Amino acid sequence: MSRDSRVVVIGGGVIGLSIAFHLAEAGVDVTLLERGTLGSGASRATADVVRSYFAGNPVSSALAVRSLDAYRAFPSRPGTELPLRRVGYLVLFSEPEQVAAFEADLPAQRAAGVDVGLIGVEEARERNPLIGDVPLVAAAYSPDAYISDTTAIVTAYARAAEQAGAALRTGCAVTAIDAEAGRIQTADGEISADAIVCAAGAWSASLVRCAGVDMPLTDPIEQELLTTDPLPPATPDIPVTLHAATGLLVRLRGDRLLIGMGYPGADRESWRREVAERLAETYPSLAGLALHTAVTGLRDASPDKTAFIGHRPGPPAFLYATGFSGHGLCNAPAAGELVRDLYLDQDPGMDVAALAVSARRTG
Ligand SMILES: Cc1cc2nc3c(=O)[nH]c(=O)nc-3n(C[C@H](O)[C@H](O)[C@H](O)COP(=O)(O)OP(=O)(O)OC[C@H]3O[C@@H](n4cnc5c(N)ncnc54)[C@H](O)[C@@H]3O)c2cc1C
Repeated sequence: MSRDSRVVVIGGGVIGLSIAFHLAEAGVDVTLLERGTLGSGASRATADVVRSYFAGNPVSSALAVRSLDAYRAFPSRPGTELPLRRVGYLVLFSEPEQVAAFEADLPAQRAAGVDVGLIGVEEARERNPLIGDVPLVAAAYSPDAYISDTTAIVTAYARAAEQAGAALRTGCAVTAIDAEAGRIQTADGEISADAIVCAAGAWSASLVRCAGVDMPLTDPIEQELLTTDPLPPATPDIPVTLHAATGLLVRLRGDRLLIGMGYPGADRESWRREVAERLAETYPSLAGLALHTAVTGLRDASPDKTAFIGHRPGPPAFLYATGFSGHGLCNAPAAGELVRDLYLDQDPGMDVAALAVSARRTG
């Protein structure tokens, strides 16, 4: 059977584009298939937060540390740097148990290369003067957190992938794959390949199942971010701030606050009321500000909130990078590098086996 392309990547979000770029840059003949437009899935609009500290999840932190280095270096031509505004990441603790959990996790975070430490309540309030008189016992602070621009990252990876020789086909939905034979069915006909890479985000489950990989992806999650009306003049700049007990996450976006807190679920109105209450509690000076939908998106989820990255060697090979569980922007460069290294049988420079589908992660 003649091969139309050596590698076919399914999915044109930030993960698929990073993979296409890294493979093409390494000289691999790669075609990416995206059913809509590039970046039209979860990568359409995010909170634009790129950080390295993932509490209790040093594996995701290690991917994020590696990714931050790559974002800072990308694409190494002056004048084309990615937007990265360093704001820091503050996690507020209201219970002594949260501090104990932080301290137990700290050695693994440090080993992953994360710059994070425990600070006192006074310093936390200095770093985020909007915090009101809410009971706190301490906070974690990681300076390595940035506000970026997801669209800019998607565009930059797409351009770099094309410049390196990748073919990016949009409006091309994959309807089925035969991973054993290296065949991909699309609405436009069949394509054959030496390797198929699934990077289809929240829509990966049926594709990996077709390939015989028993990946325990949980149902996709609809996430919503809210924004406030304009803040009072002279509102200070603040770190991305998480109130650990309630999950209330805030950051500044222009003259407004961007807010996330869990998931709306079926009762969106009661979720909104809950967000407004938690906001008023933690940031009393902002109580009463109207809240509006900033963005909603469907994202993938793995049981341990860590991506699945792995492969079944070929040819034809089958590779996957999905289940990023809300960390995709923070993990995309590393995901591209690891998939490239798995395909080319190169040293990935980290324990990539820990990211594969395995009994340990499925059990
Ligand atoms: C509201 C919200 C805020 C977020 N904020 C952040 C943040 O601040 N920082 C962060 O790190 N992460 C954030 N995330 C998570 C992040 O957006 C995702 O982890 C990331 O975008 C996943 O990228 P992806 O390429 O895997 O998936 P996607 O961007 O969803 O891309 C998958 C693509 O595959 C295509 N596709 C699916 N099926 C097929 C098929 N059969 N054939 C062809 N194409 C197909 C889809 O059209 C889609 O474009 C946020 C997510 C949401 C929803």
